[in-house]
Amino acid sequence: MIKTAKFLVSNTDPNKCPAPTKPEFAFIGRSNVGKSSLINMLTNHKGLAKTSGRPGKTQLINHFVIDEKWFMVDLPGYGFAKVSKTLKGEWDKMIKGYLTQRENLEAIFVLIDSRLEPQKIDLEFILWCAENEVPIVLIFTKADKLSHSKVQGNVSNFLKAAKGIFEETPLYFVTSAESAKGREEVLEFIDAVTED
Ligand code: GDP
Repeated sequence: MIKTAKFLVSNTDPNKCPAPTKPEFAFIGRSNVGKSSLINMLTNHKGLAKTSGRPGKTQLINHFVIDEKWFMVDLPGYGFAKVSKTLKGEWDKMIKGYLTQRENLEAIFVLIDSRLEPQKIDLEFILWCAENEVPIVLIFTKADKLSHSKVQGNVSNFLKAAKGIFEETPLYFVTSAESAKGREEVLEFIDAVTED
């Protein structure tokens, strides 16, 4: 269980992130995938990450410190249909800069909506991660919304679609912000990595 979760800083410049003194885990995904809800569920902090962004709002890298032990990073979502090329360009520069430069980054959780068939935008993003050696862990969200077997079907379709991108099947978790499914598994993974 997480005891303390504190907001530290928001910024647009990867170079202005906090000094890399603790292991870091970042969260990213398509807008509306359930990222804020998942962060709030994991930390047991209702208002920690602001839910439901809107296109065009300021895109920020948000740092939190968890139990004074690791940094949690809420990254701006990708895939708004309506954002301008300029905004997409800024997102690319900021996020790809962050992901390739951040030396204390242990893993990035890429959130995938468990209700959907594999989405091109998610596959493109994880392909970019693989090419740039950014260590990813998949988190399938909103598992309470479908039957267990439908979720399993979508998860295995996604893993099949991701075959060829990775040599080994990436680590993945199935979660629900609604029921807190997957919370212990995700936090155990983070504990195991931070205790190395
Ligand atoms: P974000 O844009 O990725 O931060 O997504 P949000 O956390 O704001 O969630 C988008 C919408 O999905 C909101 O209406 C949430 O209430 C809903 N949602 C998020 N996670 C879950 C979940 O696990 N189960 C259900 N049933 N709804 C969820």
